[in-house]
Parts: sequence; structure tokens; C-alpha cells
Amino acid sequence: MALTRLDCTKCDRTYAPGVVLNLCTACNAPLFARYDLERAARTLRPEALATRERSMWRYHEVMPVEDPAQWLTLGEGWTPLLPTPRLGARMGMKRVWVKDESGNPTGSFKARGLSAAVTMAKVLGAKAVCLPSAGNAGSALGAYAARGGLEAHVFVPKDIASLFLMETRAYGAHVETVDGLITDAGRICAGLAKEHGWYECATLKEPYRVEGKKTMGYELAEQLGWTLPDVILYPTGGGTGLIGMWKAFEEMETMGLIGSKRPRMVAVQAEGCAPIVKAHAEGKPDAPMWPGATTHAHGLRVPKALGDFLILRAVKESGGTAVAVTEAEIIQGVKDISAAEGLFVAPEGGACVAALRKLQAAGQVTPDESVVVFNTGTGFKYVENMAPLW
Ligand SMILES: *Cc1c(COP(=O)(O)O)cnc(C)c1O
Ligand SMILES: [Zn+2]
Repeated sequence: MALTRLDCTKCDRTYAPGVVLNLCTACNAPLFARYDLERAARTLRPEALATRERSMWRYHEVMPVEDPAQWLTLGEGWTPLLPTPRLGARMGMKRVWVKDESGNPTGSFKARGLSAAVTMAKVLGAKAVCLPSAGNAGSALGAYAARGGLEAHVFVPKDIASLFLMETRAYGAHVETVDGLITDAGRICAGLAKEHGWYECATLKEPYRVEGKKTMGYELAEQLGWTLPDVILYPTGGGTGLIGMWKAFEEMETMGLIGSKRPRMVAVQAEGCAPIVKAHAEGKPDAPMWPGATTHAHGLRVPKALGDFLILRAVKESGGTAVAVTEAEIIQGVKDISAAEGLFVAPEGGACVAALRKLQAAGQVTPDESVVVFNTGTGFKYVENMAPLW
């Protein structure tokens, strides 16, 4: 197995793989999986990838489980990177792509993280898994738990769109609604996990969701001929994808797949919940709890992220920035990309379209730069959320 250790992202503690691990026991920071990259680099070659499975597991040398028989997979990942020239032209940009995650199992990129995390939970002997969710993570957990024959427990804010409850329960998961936000749901989930011995899959609270999400970074590079774009816009809640891609770029450089050039990472948030934007503007290393968080883009309604310092570090090291957009701008972003390109995106994707418009207007991107906008989910699941604002 290429997985060799787990390193704390804050202190110098390291852990041996093969047992259930959550946060660092010394400092409570998230753990990162580390691999024998020298070994991985021997077989993870561009030529070899050409004939591999069309899912995120094509990068199995740098995934926590290499044996295909153990993967809990529904075909997640290897999503299209679509050139969007008409959308770009409307903003005076010549090279805009959308990494369209809407076709993932369960309709969002949460499938990547939970395919990896639930696979590892089962490998490590867990019988039940749990997490707090704004909707998409819960349905993905339910789906992969069903796939693996595990019990699933999901805790969601009570204003969640009804389809998420129906879908997640259809997978056989137990769903509890909580009076409060995802952070409140997280507290209840953590308490019950401890009591019942459930494997906790909350964002960055176990080391493997980020391993699934990092495959977006590998895919971008592979789809762009082993180059990276100048700018990436990522809708940031817990920040797993942004943190994961940043990790992936480092791994790829170590393996000689890419050079040292990095995209400017742009964390996109909603004005009603913008802890990362505020902390970035103030030059802080972490982001305090955002009071009274509100946005209809529920994936962005994360008032406090466990990996805040990792998001802020990546944004800063990359020379990127963090941008907040209004609810009206988010809806306009959804309408713009729908009309220009035929993509009915999630509001989180709409937020990135709106943010690109802002960056362009402020001269923070230039017309010839290559830009990748993330659409992290399907708009179909957000009809209830978007309808009052449409
Ligand atoms: C969860 C979610 C996000 C935020 O993802 P993080 O990696 O936790 O920042 C964005 N968009 C959608 C559709 C989501 O479900
Ligand atoms: Zn530590």
C-alpha cells in the first residue's frame, strides 16, 4: 500500500495508518494522508492513465485504498472540464472552463469525499458512519453507506430542502433535523458518535474525505495536459476541495507530473457567511465563527471551518484571494451560466460565476488568463432554495 503515514497539519505528530483516526490527539488539527510518492511515481504516469477507469479511483497510487475490490464506488469523479467560451465572452474573458461536478453520483462533488471516507471506514472495520450536513454530504454518505452495507446517521439543519430528507432516507440512512446550523448539527453528531462508536465523517475530522476531493486537482491537471490554469474559483464552505487540490498539486510536483507553477486559488463565499473572506482581508491565519450565518447556497453556510487555517494558507501562498457575493448575484450567476452554456448549476457554482465577474471588473484577472470555475453540484437539488429568489 502506498499510504505510509498520517501527518498532523499543525504540529509535528505523525501516526501509523491502519487504525481509525480523527483529529491530532495532541493539537486537534486535521490529519493528512502521506504516501510513498517515489513508488507511486513509477506507475502513476500520463501514458498509464489513458486506459484506466473513468472515475477518481484512476489515481489509486495516491488513494488510501489501492485494491479495487475494496472500493465503494458509484462512478464518482472524472467529470468534464468544459470550455465555456460564451460565458467567458460575456465577462471579457477568453479562456474560461467549468469543472462540472453536477454529474457525480448523488448530484454533487461530495460523492468524491464520501466514496473515499466510507471505503476507509469499512476497511478499518466500522459498522456505522455519521456526519453533519447541509444536504449534499448527507445524501452522499447515505449512498456510499448503502453501497457498503454500513449504517448511516446524518444530522441536518431543519430548514433543509425536503428532497434531501427523502433522498437520504431512501438510502436507508437515519436522518435527524437539528434546530440550528451545520455547526450545531456537528456538535450533536460528535456526541452521539462518541457514545455509539460511529465512524465520524465530518469535514476534515477524518483524513480521507480530503483524499477523495483532492482528485479534482489531479483531474484538472490531466485534463489540461499536465498544466494548471492561472486561476481557480472554488465555492468554499468547509474548504475540503480547495485544501485537497492544494495538497494534490504538491504531490504531483513531487512525482514530476507538473512543475512548480500554481494557480491563484480564489475562495468564494456568500456575503451572509464569509468568515474566510473576512479573515483573508484582515490577514489573519484563521477565521473566527461567523455569527448569524445565512445564505440559500447551503454548501456555503459554514460559519466555522475546522480547516480554516489550511484554506487561508493555500489562498495566501497561491497569491489568490477570497471574494464574497450577494444572494442576488448568486442567482444571477446561475442564470448567466445556464443561458450562456446550458448548465443549470447549483447556487454554489453560480457564486463562482458571480465572483469571476467581480474579479474581472476589479482587474484582478486579465482577459487572456486561463480560469477554472467550479460548479460543485446540480441546480436540480436547489429548486426549493432558489425559487423565492428567482
Ligand atoms: C459542500 C458543498 C460546497 C462546499 O464544499 P467544501 O469543500 O466543504 O468547501 C460547495 N458546493 C456544494 C454544492 C456543496 O455541497
Ligand atoms: Zn497536531
